[in-house]
Amino acid sequence: MIGSLTLQQLQKRFGGELVNGSVEFSEVCSDTRKLSPQALFVALVGDNFDAHDFVGELDGQVLGLVVDREVPNCGLPQWRVEDTTVALGQIGLLCREQFSGPVIAITGSCGKTTVKEMLSAIFSLSHTPCVTRGNLNNQFGLPLTLFSLSRKHDVLILEMGANGPDDIAYLCSIGKPQVSAVNNVMPAHVEGFGSIDAIAKAKGQIYTSLDIGGTAIINADDNYADYWRGRMPEGVETLEVGLASQCEIYADNIVLDKTGCAAFDLVIEGLAHPLQLQLLGEHNVHNALVAAACAFAAGLSAAEIVQGLSTLKGVDGRLQEQRGIAGATVIDDSYNANPGSVGAAIELLAQRSGKKILVLGDMAELGPDAEEMHRSVGDLARERGLDALFTLGPLGAAASLAFNQGSSESLRNYRNREPLIAALTHELDNNTTILVKGSRSARMELVAEALLGNS
Ligand code: ATP
Ligand code: MG
Repeated sequence: MIGSLTLQQLQKRFGGELVNGSVEFSEVCSDTRKLSPQALFVALVGDNFDAHDFVGELDGQVLGLVVDREVPNCGLPQWRVEDTTVALGQIGLLCREQFSGPVIAITGSCGKTTVKEMLSAIFSLSHTPCVTRGNLNNQFGLPLTLFSLSRKHDVLILEMGANGPDDIAYLCSIGKPQVSAVNNVMPAHVEGFGSIDAIAKAKGQIYTSLDIGGTAIINADDNYADYWRGRMPEGVETLEVGLASQCEIYADNIVLDKTGCAAFDLVIEGLAHPLQLQLLGEHNVHNALVAAACAFAAGLSAAEIVQGLSTLKGVDGRLQEQRGIAGATVIDDSYNANPGSVGAAIELLAQRSGKKILVLGDMAELGPDAEEMHRSVGDLARERGLDALFTLGPLGAAASLAFNQGSSESLRNYRNREPLIAALTHELDNNTTILVKGSRSARMELVAEALLGNS
């Protein structure tokens, strides 16, 4: 935190009740494994846990509590509220209000973490950024980033994720960004929204939440670019990025080397700056454009942007290339999957020489069209010339069947990980590139680990 706060300040601003008086605090925690004697403890309630079960034992270990009910025999100062998750956000808002530097927020279906890491690399050259840790991009994670703001930070970079229609508006109400970007809109987490249009609308809240003078970064190559343009609040500046030279920031002369890393000219205000990325996949050109625009809008120079983008080597679990067993090339993209990111992975794999194998765990949370989306991925893998598609899970059967053009012979669809790994190990040699991907729930990192000989 930049400065301390008191329970009384919170109660005055947001209501609720004080129990056992007020207390001043300079840290906030909500995890009983990370207690601190300087901290205010927020008792969160989840589907499978309720921190109120433990708060009675925290006397002496923290300064005070935020709770939603009476805690028997507890002398600690408490702020009693209706909903402790909302309170967590409210404390986050007060921390945010203590910060006077620029605040950048990124949402989108794919590439949020990658863009955030790109921005972190760019700003770290000349600033001390406070950045969303890992993937902590929701109503619990975002406040944690705000609590971690300190006097040394001079820019705040927030990743915002959405599982439902009002999530982004909520996150903006506590993160208060001044530069906002929707990286792209694709079918991801569809279940919480119902349709892609609904996803686009929800992501657009990152623009409509901007105050006068804020800057909206628009990805002009996205299908919803026009939709954003038509809904921009008055007084908000826009900065367009994309592949077309009409954009204020665009990519020209894109060339992929044989591993799939892009080199291109980053054109900013009419001046071309040669840039070589160290990240795999052409989609990272789009991510780099959005990151460049956010940094530019926050006042950084083209030279800093190019230097930062060229130094970033990779983001864990996202298209990480390593040498696997039998000399095979293993690309670990096991962190997550949706049709957009699988498409990007297929494009990358298609450019490789030698034998090309995609291993795909089921894509989750896609709603009623899930099977159709798996079929499309199977079709794309075949059309782009991959040599084999191995799938894990019941939805994968649809992808495998499409890849095989309807033939169920040698389908290579597996219900369990062990036989899948056993079958894959027979395929590996030093002429093979194998890309492993799937939704979090498919735990495909275990397959990648096995192919790398680490398990
Ligand atoms: P999450 O919703 O899980 O937070 P995210 O939006 O933060 O995801 P990343 O973690 O950066 O996205 O990347 C997730 C996956 O999407 C990776 O497989 C990555 O290669 C792929 N990806 C990243 N950027 C793009 C893009 N612009 N288009 C398509 N796929 C992308
Ligand atoms: Mg992320």
